[in-house]
Amino acid sequence: MPSQVRVVWDAAFTKYDFGPSHPMAPVRLDLTARLCAALGIFDAPGVEVVGAEPADDDLLATVHDRDYIAAVRAASEDPEAADPAYGLGTEDDPAFRGMHEASARIVAGTVDACRAVWEGEAEHGVNFTGGLHHAMPASASGFCIYNDAAIGIQWLLAHGAERVAYVDIDVHHGDGVERIFWDDPRVLTISVHETGRALFPGTGWPTDVGGEGAEGSAVNVSLPPGLGDAGWLRAVHATVMPVVRSFRPDVLVTQHGCDTHAEDPLAHFAMTVDAQRAAADSLHRLSHEVCAGRWVALGGGGYEIVDVVPRTWTHVTAIAAHAPVRCTVPVPQEWRDHVQRLCGRPGPALMGDLTSEDGPLWWRSWDMGYDPSSDVDRAVMATRQAVFPLHGLDVYFD
Ligand SMILES: [Zn+2]
Ligand SMILES: [Zn+2]
Repeated sequence: MPSQVRVVWDAAFTKYDFGPSHPMAPVRLDLTARLCAALGIFDAPGVEVVGAEPADDDLLATVHDRDYIAAVRAASEDPEAADPAYGLGTEDDPAFRGMHEASARIVAGTVDACRAVWEGEAEHGVNFTGGLHHAMPASASGFCIYNDAAIGIQWLLAHGAERVAYVDIDVHHGDGVERIFWDDPRVLTISVHETGRALFPGTGWPTDVGGEGAEGSAVNVSLPPGLGDAGWLRAVHATVMPVVRSFRPDVLVTQHGCDTHAEDPLAHFAMTVDAQRAAADSLHRLSHEVCAGRWVALGGGGYEIVDVVPRTWTHVTAIAAHAPVRCTVPVPQEWRDHVQRLCGRPGPALMGDLTSEDGPLWWRSWDMGYDPSSDVDRAVMATRQAVFPLHGLDVYFD
């Protein structure tokens, strides 16, 4: 009997560490794992928690240029030797000793989750240390060295998957994964993000729909700054769901960057943990609907490391474990005590952000009508007009 979920985790993953002044602090991963453990998710029936050894160069080279891998290895041995021509030793991607191994370990974790799901060892896979979606074939970018998501997808294609859907709900455009599969009609990449006019990497426009022979295989939902739960969930449901249903993937890979949250210091959306959980729940259900539950969920961005990242990815893991945690559940005191000792401030009290005064999480479905005076609706409509006809879908109605 397959396990319910393969969760990739051990303490070695915290070695992906750009240093104390960098926003991508590895403690966010440790706090996530501790919260999962404190809630009993790692001990729930059918949950396997496994580490990984660094991926070998042949696996990395299914996506990355050999010259780039050699440059990462050189910078990893001697950070002074980092070559900015490969995006290494930069402000976003400073070199550190052991960088190659730390990055290749994340890749191996994602590939292992993909393999376990594809070979039927586990129903779902989770690697919240992964989702490093900005890494390019020949350069580091945006805190990402190796593109574990793309390497996992490439592994699936090489082992018999005919169609893979990748859905990226990080606040930043999933540019690396999109670029790598731009010309490949077997891989649908959907990125829902804050407009490149306001945010790194400055790309991801609705009219970017994929290369020749792969038109419609890239989907970009470019949303205005300031967006809150209702607009974001409306946009996700009005774009991701119909296109994935129409594409009929063999596997669904999702990236759950939680830098969409109101407290995230790097971006300008205003989401709650509750909305991020709701999106994960919907994507999980979608995997059961379209691909027999073959679902691999990854982490990604997220720079509010105490209040946001641990709760969001704990929800993702709990959903994949079929042991979802309500947003009204108190955060375990042992975890809050640990946060107090570590950070000198209390962690969040509940597993969600919304209070009874906020009312329930709610959004309008697209079928309830298109409002041309809404900047969210105009953004959604731009995406639907650009790609829905390529999938034989109606622009106005689901
Ligand atoms: Zn499931
Ligand atoms: Zn991000």
